[in-house]
Amino acid sequence: SDAVPEHHFEGIPDEKLAQIHKTAETFQFQTEVTKVLNILINSLYKSKEIFLRELISNGADALDKIRFISLTDKEALSSNDYLNITIRADKEAKTLTIRDSGIGMTKNDLIRNLGTIAKSGTSDFLHALENNTADMNLIGQFGVGFYSIYLVADTVSVVSKNNADKQHIWESTAENSFTVVEDPRGNTLGRGTEITLYLKDNAMEFLEDEKLKTLVHKYSQFINFPIYLWTTKI
Ligand code: ADP
Ligand code: MG
Repeated sequence: SDAVPEHHFEGIPDEKLAQIHKTAETFQFQTEVTKVLNILINSLYKSKEIFLRELISNGADALDKIRFISLTDKEALSSNDYLNITIRADKEAKTLTIRDSGIGMTKNDLIRNLGTIAKSGTSDFLHALENNTADMNLIGQFGVGFYSIYLVADTVSVVSKNNADKQHIWESTAENSFTVVEDPRGNTLGRGTEITLYLKDNAMEFLEDEKLKTLVHKYSQFINFPIYLWTTKI
């Protein structure tokens, strides 16, 4: 595979980082996805906070999926039986992390769902963006809500654990490619997905307790799972 771009994993010891560099595979985003990402990264759209709505909605979808499976498969939840979403800001690292104990993604799910298989809505959304007629707020309705993270972040890592696979790390630092690697730490999630956004300089407001509280309240209204927001202890 190609040279692996610089990684930013917090709390991974050096020898394990070396292992990541050795074994990570690089994948190209599907062409239209690359174009959407580039436009979003440079977008002047004001209401960037919609990314949080999309991530909470994806977390809730993932929780719904594992709960549904658990109706017929009693063992499904044994990997983690506490269905919830946790949001945590780290001001020092300038990161925002959203974690859910939903169904999680296998290595193949990460590769397919986060970049290589374009959904039918991708080109529609791209055309609207290129014609300046896109209503960014409707990004989720085009089936590409995940990419709204690029309104606030340029580097993103997704750690995911599905019952059918080992834990993997998806990471994108470049605008046309991403890497996937088995997590050298093993299974730290039990089951689910942890998304860490390395916020852009113009998105630091999303590290503020009050801002996050307001947004989480707003976007959690129709979510049927507990959502926890870590705030700074004073
Ligand atoms: P949509 O939610 O409309 O399918 P998104 O762009 O928001 O589109 O997400 C793309 C896909 O990535 C989802 O369909 C799902 O398969 C996967 N995905 C995203 N976030 C998560 C998550 N937290 N847990 C499990 N799968 C996820
Ligand atoms: Mg979604």
